[in-house]
Amino acid sequence: MSAPTRRPVPFLDLAAVHAEMQPEIEDAVLRVVRSGRVLLGPELETFEDSWARTVGARFAVGVGNGLDALSLGLRALGVGPGDEVLVPSHTFVATWLAVAHVGAVPVPVDVRSASADWDEAALVAAVTPRTRAVLPVHLYGHPVDLDVVLRVARDHDLVVLDDAAQAHGARLRGRPVGGLTHATAWSFYPGKNLGALGDGGAVTTSDPETAERLRRLRNYGSVEKYHHDVVGWNSRLDEVQAAVLSVKLRRLDEHNARREAVARRYDEGLRGLDLVLPESAEWATPVWHLYVVRSEHRDRLRDHLTAAGVETGLHYPVPCHRQGAFAGTPLADAHLPVADALAREALSLPLGPALGTDDQDAVIAALQSFRP
Ligand SMILES: *Cc1c(COP(=O)(O)O)cnc(C)c1O
Repeated sequence: MSAPTRRPVPFLDLAAVHAEMQPEIEDAVLRVVRSGRVLLGPELETFEDSWARTVGARFAVGVGNGLDALSLGLRALGVGPGDEVLVPSHTFVATWLAVAHVGAVPVPVDVRSASADWDEAALVAAVTPRTRAVLPVHLYGHPVDLDVVLRVARDHDLVVLDDAAQAHGARLRGRPVGGLTHATAWSFYPGKNLGALGDGGAVTTSDPETAERLRRLRNYGSVEKYHHDVVGWNSRLDEVQAAVLSVKLRRLDEHNARREAVARRYDEGLRGLDLVLPESAEWATPVWHLYVVRSEHRDRLRDHLTAAGVETGLHYPVPCHRQGAFAGTPLADAHLPVADALAREALSLPLGPALGTDDQDAVIAALQSFRP
């Protein structure tokens, strides 16, 4: 007799998310196809306006992806060769790569917990005469306390670019992430809380000069055709992606609310198990991009869940300072014990707007039946 089989619980069911708005997405794509205008057109302007308004910034500049949003954001803020940029020890590697791409040096500050929070004294201790910028990351959807970061930045004359690739809609003390620093970088990678049907990104800022520099940098250094004022990139958010993002933006709040409900249900169902559950600060409104638990037996727990038909994710199993990209640099010798522990212990559970309660119950039951 074979065991009853149920469909594996997917880590993130994007097809189900898209199915909910299929007609609107098809309309948006067809509109662009029929218009014949596929780059730097009205769909981009419309989306940029609504995204800026949503996050409380004056300007949004659409770019090709989140990594470019970070690199162009740093460039637009004047960060370049010889500069040091303070980055969290625990983040997706793109945060560090962006700093390297502009010729600057990432200087990691170890976090206190998975949600990328820094101790103010540790941040201040990392500042040197070469420090030019701070790059906090609102990891897993939990906002960093930007009030602390901005205070340190003001005291040491640093610019702040925040990485909000996982934090669409997150708030701190009631204010949305996106208009609180010199500039904020966004990714619209399909799996993010607001995701396109391919790559996409944006930088938001309330400074008109920074916005203008970004518009040049994304388009070969040009705002006037045939005139190239700076050595720019080609990194643009295309019309199809912008049109799709405008559709999906209408559902962002609802999707974030559904993510929150999933997180609350995990909080309830997993209480008392031998796991460290995610915590949120009382001043924070996180958007639950990921629900990440910590376990000393992470790898065996993951195998157990896989055998039970539950897909999980690792964010991230190799810390940035141990990546080959930084081998042979002083970063490879960095002492970052919290980042190392998180790489060993963090496990991301299925989470998304379309995760049903039956599927979530199967995840919780599988976690409850784990015997290390
Ligand atoms: C996804 C992500 C990025 C990079 O975005 P892409 O659009 O994939 O280039 C950068 N930082 C963080 C924290 C991310 O999660």
